[in-house]
Amino acid sequence: MYYDMLKYYLELFDNGKREFAYQAESIPKYAEWKRALRSRLAEITGLSRCVSCALEHGYAGEEEINGFRAEKHTLRTEPGVAMPFLLMKPETFGWASCPVLIVPHGHGGGKRETLYYQAVFIREALEDGFIVACPDERGSGERREFPQQGDGEAAERSNSHRELAQLSLGFGRTVIGGAVWDLMRLADWLLALPEASGFLACAGMSGGGQQALWFAALDDRVRAAITSGYFYGVRDALIEMPQNCACNYIPGFFETADMGELGALIAPRPFFVESGAGDPLAGKRGLANVREQLATAGKAYRLFGAEIVHSVHGGGHEWRGDGMRSFLAEARLAGE
Ligand SMILES: [Zn+2]
Repeated sequence: MYYDMLKYYLELFDNGKREFAYQAESIPKYAEWKRALRSRLAEITGLSRCVSCALEHGYAGEEEINGFRAEKHTLRTEPGVAMPFLLMKPETFGWASCPVLIVPHGHGGGKRETLYYQAVFIREALEDGFIVACPDERGSGERREFPQQGDGEAAERSNSHRELAQLSLGFGRTVIGGAVWDLMRLADWLLALPEASGFLACAGMSGGGQQALWFAALDDRVRAAITSGYFYGVRDALIEMPQNCACNYIPGFFETADMGELGALIAPRPFFVESGAGDPLAGKRGLANVREQLATAGKAYRLFGAEIVHSVHGGGHEWRGDGMRSFLAEARLAGE
């Protein structure tokens, strides 16, 4: 016999309301809702508490990683906070106006792992003329805190999200709030490159899909977003599975909105959702838990006569990338 709490929290969710549950039926109502929800999300994620500073930039040389010629850069995103990132340039760099693609990594490593796990996608983006940037999220890669620092695969694949989530809490901040802030500052820097066109896309898998989703939801400069292995309702995926990483949990979020509302904030910008039919992180109802959220976000897209691309593969919690190259090409044609 255990006097445990999960059922209590599920009932709290089921009996409660999301304050910003999507219900706008006109574009002006949508705009009003979007402004209000963004402001609330900036508050509860602590994004609004992040501190601006001059974007101090450093260049740390070039290395070859999995056949990519990657430049290593650093950027100061808050006073005392430095973010390393890898930058890959297309052959057209220097004489053409290049679109920009940010690929944030998921759990299981940092920026370097992206160049292995999403190598085909990144290679194609470079062929298509994109400048590609892969940053380390706070707590991962070269940004691991002391308990996780060190060499070797186990250490390199670990992260300090629990440590940072606990530290953030007392300052009214969260891991995802800091991650979005850093992506915003990276976008400031990338979009100011003389070689960059104004087109910015963001694509990620799992924790990278979480970052891409939140970044696009909170920043209109993201003209196209791809999220894989992350877009599913919080009840089954986060509440019923509290063993998920601490970075997924935000004070008050379960009373504010659900994933569908985050998707709705991206409307009408091109939005691609990839799901694995057997992804256990979607929860026990699998794709049903994805489709419900897509239906919510889809209401906002329909207001603008647009729709979300949903690509389902037969695998589990994994990135496939089918259809993403043409999705980005179309988004670029429409958005440049
Ligand atoms: Zn995490």
